Amino acid sequence: MSQVLALKYRPSSFDKLIGQEAIAQTLSLALNQDRLSHAYLFSGLRGSGKTSTARIFAKALVCENGPTSTPCETCEHCLSANENRHIDIIEMDAASNRGIDDIRELIESTKYKPSSARFKIFIIDEVHMLTTQAFNALLKTLEEPPSYVKFILATTDPLKLPATILSRVQHFRFKQIKQSDVVNHLCHILNLENIEYEKEALEMISRAGNGSLRDTLTLLDQAIIFSKGYITPENVASMLGLLDPKQLDILFTAILNRNKLELLAMIKELESYECEVVLDELIAYLKNAFFEQDRRFSTLLYERFFKILSEAKSLLYINADNGFVLSLVLFKMVEATNIKTIEEMIDSLEKEKFRLPAATTESSEQHEEVVPLKETPKETEPTSVQDHGVTDAQLYARLCEKLLDRNVELGECFQKHIRFERFQDRVLTLNSSAKDESAKILKHNSAIIRHFVQDVFGFESQIKIVKTDAPATQIAAPASLTHEPSAMLEDLPLEDDSNYSMIENTTFEGAPQSESCATGAMMSMQKELDATEILNTPFVQKATDLFVAQKIQIRQKV
Ligand SMILES: [Zn+2]
Repeated sequence: MSQVLALKYRPSSFDKLIGQEAIAQTLSLALNQDRLSHAYLFSGLRGSGKTSTARIFAKALVCENGPTSTPCETCEHCLSANENRHIDIIEMDAASNRGIDDIRELIESTKYKPSSARFKIFIIDEVHMLTTQAFNALLKTLEEPPSYVKFILATTDPLKLPATILSRVQHFRFKQIKQSDVVNHLCHILNLENIEYEKEALEMISRAGNGSLRDTLTLLDQAIIFSKGYITPENVASMLGLLDPKQLDILFTAILNRNKLELLAMIKELESYECEVVLDELIAYLKNAFFEQDRRFSTLLYERFFKILSEAKSLLYINADNGFVLSLVLFKMVEATNIKTIEEMIDSLEKEKFRLPAATTESSEQHEEVVPLKETPKETEPTSVQDHGVTDAQLYARLCEKLLDRNVELGECFQKHIRFERFQDRVLTLNSSAKDESAKILKHNSAIIRHFVQDVFGFESQIKIVKTDAPATQIAAPASLTHEPSAMLEDLPLEDDSNYSMIENTTFEGAPQSESCATGAMMSMQKELDATEILNTPFVQKATDLFVAQKIQIRQKV
């Protein structure tokens, strides 16, 4: 190969510029309409085409037919400009000539007219490297140069330029060249060079070039030599120290299949690679899969994977152990495949809601959604077996356990005075022998009891309390008991279809309506709130006695 590709295929006209169409168009219009400024600033990433554009623009200015956006390429000016030997196009690298003396010399030469062309053009590369004094010395000339002088400044870092410079130039911002544009350009070059390739390999090269065309072409030079005339992804991968795309396929298959053994084996294999490179490759693979709408990944999975990978990158910045970070990433990704989607969770929660808790025995499969309720009342059998293999009595025992867990006093009181009668049509009928203190405790904790009843017997369960005289522990549960008329029955609208739990209307029988200040207030809270009732409560009355209304006047300070 006689010449490196970056030089051989350096664009020589605006239409050959890669990925900077807007800038090429603006500069062409300026040339054709003779609306030229005396100073330009080209900023952008390295390899984005700044210097090439500056040279094309300079040639367009000096061409015999110019200024024109389409230089003739045949006149002496064009020819010498193309060979970088035009006497009136002066290129200067500010990185190596950054001092005030260099700039003084440059300013001195602006005082002499161009030797052959109509303009004298100064291209200053990496202009942000100039010293402050050099910038200051340049200012005056930059503002009012002789009519035959044009400045083209180029920089990768425009933010380092003083505002005084920025305000005196026309600023063109070169954007990063799109990867697809780079790949197309590589294809074009390889076709001209008659070299075979696989497009995937070119994509890997252009990714490694990071949007710099020059870097990418240098890598392409390398790849051509390395692959001996046929550029494949495998060749490029081993040249760049990247993962083979096939390895990535295997890796992701192992993750999706949660094959931890295979992953462990792969982690050992990956130890020879730079962790950051592997992470980048994983991200690139996912990005590619995303755009190709790979059905193996859901949107949620992409989100989780990307999050895990970007978090891993920040771990690398704090110098975490590379191999460990990689292992962590891969195993976190395996875990991520395990997490349910929100829809799945809602689904399972809804199923859970209509199912008795712990109804997970082998027979539960058929009756997952709704608790089948007994058709006929079986008052004589308080321990009737549910279809799930859990008896109502067992559920009731669990309820007692939970109450005891929550509050020993409440639990014991409940067990002593409340007796299970039956659970039918989602109504839990309980016998209560509570009086005085115990009734107060139950009353006070009615919300907790209701919560646990719904927890154990199902969300839509309601409670019916039947008053008995004998304490629960002494009752042998004769069937006839349930048929006894009770004061509560009339108050409880059994036919009411509303979803409210009946405990709202339930008072544990025997509780004194307002024995003390505390219970009085509690009672009114349990009932519907009535403003006048609240005012009559002892709490409020006491409060009104304590606070005497006073009139306070507030005057403005003069
Ligand atoms: Zn020409």
